[in-house]
Amino acid sequence: MDKLIITAALTGSRPTKAMNPAVPYSPAEIAAEAVACARAGAAVVHIHVRDPLTGAPSSDPALFTEVVARIREACDVLINLTTSGLHIEGEDVVARRLAPVALRPELCSLDIGSVNFRDRLFANPPDWGETAARAMQEAGVKPEIEVFDVGHIHQARHLIERGLIDPPPYFQLCMGVDWGIPATAENLLFMQRQLPPGAVWSVLGVGRAQLPMITLGILLGGHIRVGFEDNLYLRKGVLAPSNAAFVEMAVHLAHQLQREVATPAEARALLGLRPAG
Ligand code: ZN
Repeated sequence: MDKLIITAALTGSRPTKAMNPAVPYSPAEIAAEAVACARAGAAVVHIHVRDPLTGAPSSDPALFTEVVARIREACDVLINLTTSGLHIEGEDVVARRLAPVALRPELCSLDIGSVNFRDRLFANPPDWGETAARAMQEAGVKPEIEVFDVGHIHQARHLIERGLIDPPPYFQLCMGVDWGIPATAENLLFMQRQLPPGAVWSVLGVGRAQLPMITLGILLGGHIRVGFEDNLYLRKGVLAPSNAAFVEMAVHLAHQLQREVATPAEARALLGLRPAG
């Protein structure tokens, strides 16, 4: 079985310090969490940025630039910048969502299907998916295809078949987001079976689904994502003190299940990325 790629999703756009005081907001805080996660065993960090004062979700390129520079200075962890742009409204939504691609991270998330996130629409119309895939391909940035339901995989296959995503395609199976596909073992196996041949996949589970989903991911030969974007609690009633605490938990779990953890260099090879530097 391949070594396990652990992704740490450091802050997302929803969790606040009121929910868990350890949620990072400023570029310095986000970068410090990234470095700690890399030391704990994460090969990839998935990054959103926040208004440093209010914690509101932001798409300010200067904030992304600062986070990337701080992380690059400290370690070789692979950087995955979001293009979800959930909060972006008004003019030039596509260009503003794609701004992080210009920073040439190793990866950018690519959301291709629309879904209701409980109380709001996460709109990813067909032309967005195609435009974003092309932009990432041209920039040499690998898309991490985030899928929240089975139809999203079907849509990704259409882009892959048209040559808009370079092999191997890399999927993040997002399980248990309200109202995406529920996080059950049966559903995860079903999602896995829909993936195109040669796909590399990772799984995340939201909230209390995090532990069962990553456990199954480790056993099934997938990769896993943990962190505050998906979950604030280390166990029932116990807030996680840091993102690194989740990574440490995941590394321990992988060792218990006798799966080795990938370094950033090994993750590059698994994802078909060029060696660093
Ligand atoms: Zn994200």
